[in-house]
Amino acid sequence: MGLFKSKPKISVEDCSRQFYDSSIFQAVIAGSDVWSGYLDTVFEAVVDADQSFSKIDPNVFWTEMTALRMELFALAWSHRFKKPQSTISQSLYTREYLKDVRKLKLWQIMGEYNRALAQSTVMEANGQPKDEWSVAKINKLRTDMFEEWADASIGDPSRMTNEHKEQAECVARVANRVGADMRRENCIAVVRLGARLADRLRCDINLDTEALLRLGSVIFGFYMGAEEYLKSVDVQAPKELSRSLAQDELSRLLANGRPHPRIKQYLGSGRVGNSYTSIFHHPDCYRARQIKINKAIWFESSDEATAGGYKPCGVCKPQVPYTVLNIGRQAYLTDGSSKIADSHLKSDL
Ligand SMILES: [Zn+2]
Repeated sequence: MGLFKSKPKISVEDCSRQFYDSSIFQAVIAGSDVWSGYLDTVFEAVVDADQSFSKIDPNVFWTEMTALRMELFALAWSHRFKKPQSTISQSLYTREYLKDVRKLKLWQIMGEYNRALAQSTVMEANGQPKDEWSVAKINKLRTDMFEEWADASIGDPSRMTNEHKEQAECVARVANRVGADMRRENCIAVVRLGARLADRLRCDINLDTEALLRLGSVIFGFYMGAEEYLKSVDVQAPKELSRSLAQDELSRLLANGRPHPRIKQYLGSGRVGNSYTSIFHHPDCYRARQIKINKAIWFESSDEATAGGYKPCGVCKPQVPYTVLNIGRQAYLTDGSSKIADSHLKSDL
């Protein structure tokens, strides 16, 4: 075990699958199911503290605890890999994985614990609601994340497909985890998760009982275990939102072989026309981002757009050559020579 041993670089999907396989769904060592065995031990420990717990069906307990552990894996993921590309891909993959192993029911139950986490983010450690400013801040982060995704992946809301709706659910869950905290001194998340678990198991455990404390430490352990596992791997961040699972979706966003201007990462040359209005734009123009996906037509240059019968936009003046100085910053040249501007553009990039 060398200190300087480099971690293997793996994809979001491989990393998640390895965890789900080796810790839950194929956790078999010497012929015995380690995950179920562990849950049996937990079950006994809780029954030991509260006899009424023995009424609970061990299969139901398995299902709830598995969903809870997967939700906490996702939370640990969002704490370690903060970028939305990574967290959203992880969420999309988890749904896909559960579909593959025919356990989509677990996905639904994960949603229950996800909502419990979301509730914990607007409460203080003592269970009182947080001040309005803190709540507004968390809600703003959530909305921004959701809108950024919707902007890049859907574009036109009237073209929202079932696939989009499934994706939207995955993104919403990622957004719900924003602000969820598992630090020991602020264990409101553990309390909320434990309460939701007790509620779903329909057991009459009071929040103060030893049984619930035992369950709470197991819940905390799920998070810690996931955190440890994620520290041991180096996950390759996906380049684009939902690239791995929504290849179809991405190709739908391509117009004339170019990404639609709504894909914000795109910073390219060329001009984009709106076939509905016959007006063309610089791709960074806000009006270009309003073009419906199926109406975006790409041109190599403004000359090509003009030759195609398109008129220049009055806002971004795409007939005026430009050069890209920095990412996100552009300067318009005024010498009117597109040849010079194009050579500037190439050297600047
Ligand atoms: Zn424009």
